[in-house]
Amino acid sequence: MGILLTNGFVVDPIAKSVTRQDILLEGDRIVAMGVALPRGNHQVRDLTDLYVVPGLIDVHVHLREPGYTHKETIATGTMAAAAGGFSQICPMPNTSPVTDDPEIVRYVIEEAKRHGYAQVHPIAAVTKGLKGEELTDFQALYEAGAIAFSDDGRGVQSAEMMKKALLAAKKLNSLIAVHAEDETLSKKGVMHEGEISRLLGVEGIPTEAESVMIARDIVLAQATGAHVHICHVSPESAVSLIADAKRRGIRVTGEVAPHHLLLNDQVVKQLGTHGKVNPPLRDEIDRLACVRGFFDGTLDVIATDHAPHSEEEKAQSLEKAPNGFTGIEISLPLLYTSFVHSGLMTLAELVERMSTLPAKLFHLDGGQLIVGSRADLTVLDPYTPRIVNPRKFKSKGKVTPFAGRSLYGWPILTYHAGNLVHDSMA
Ligand SMILES: [Zn+2]
Ligand SMILES: [Zn+2]
Repeated sequence: MGILLTNGFVVDPIAKSVTRQDILLEGDRIVAMGVALPRGNHQVRDLTDLYVVPGLIDVHVHLREPGYTHKETIATGTMAAAAGGFSQICPMPNTSPVTDDPEIVRYVIEEAKRHGYAQVHPIAAVTKGLKGEELTDFQALYEAGAIAFSDDGRGVQSAEMMKKALLAAKKLNSLIAVHAEDETLSKKGVMHEGEISRLLGVEGIPTEAESVMIARDIVLAQATGAHVHICHVSPESAVSLIADAKRRGIRVTGEVAPHHLLLNDQVVKQLGTHGKVNPPLRDEIDRLACVRGFFDGTLDVIATDHAPHSEEEKAQSLEKAPNGFTGIEISLPLLYTSFVHSGLMTLAELVERMSTLPAKLFHLDGGQLIVGSRADLTVLDPYTPRIVNPRKFKSKGKVTPFAGRSLYGWPILTYHAGNLVHDSMA
């Protein structure tokens, strides 16, 4: 007996088509797709008026375990992923201990498997302890299951170290995910350096703190032939650098976070620490450049940079509160509402950037619904608006600058490897 999903609008992000089809799941696979499949003795779920998309893939999240389990655990983080329609996620290594040891890579993978909400592909540290001093053992980390390398949370300050890292990643056909931040320029900044930081009288982070390192790493990508993936791009200058590098055939890709597409630094004036994130929310010119970069493909994929913290931590002063907020449960409805519901792009185009291309860049299975593929799929409701209510988040992190927004396109069912892991219809 299988699970027969009937009458849904099935989105193909590669053909950019939407067709009404049934999908039959058996075990962890999609075993049949087509119009009016025989019902047999299958468990039938009617999806009339709903969209079915391949399980989303987020290449940049923070699961906080080991070490910071008051912020999030692998269990709550993957449950949040499932609630957000994500089947595969890539957690960053800035845990405690840091994911710089194969043992920790294996632990994170196994712990996620044990809970079964989503598949987890750890991104291992570039340098031991994220200290920027000594390269980790890329080969051993890769063999343990790490799919990429990053010192996210910090930039790799030494160009020599980054060059070594790129060469090591290239040997494995892997990539370096770059958190671009030159600490001699970002200093103790707590938000974007501009009109609002001056108004609030706080230290700012200039756009060049980010762009200088992106420029450096593009040069190093060209010199080494390695793949550099730029995380959470925020300033206009960075979008231009990446566009130019792509034109010149350099192996650089970029991700953009929903908050950098949808918010600017005015939010910090309104919401204080709930708008504090690194890289910071920039000004409107930068935000629009990110939107343009996303639409023209300069910024290849959406990544949430889901960064949960406790409410107490975020209730501190702007100087003291940690960077980041929860994001994975609302990224699909945020982008669906802003870009698809508003008619700026199709759902197939959005899903390509949230599933198909992330799979391609990070060499993961997934990103398309075809017979024989793993049954990772997300069902979303295009018609029923719902308010963002952080109290209902599965994530331990309840802080988001999007609280209270009315959104369309919520994921209402998520299947991972044939199992129903999220059901908001129940
Ligand atoms: Zn980062
Ligand atoms: Zn991050």
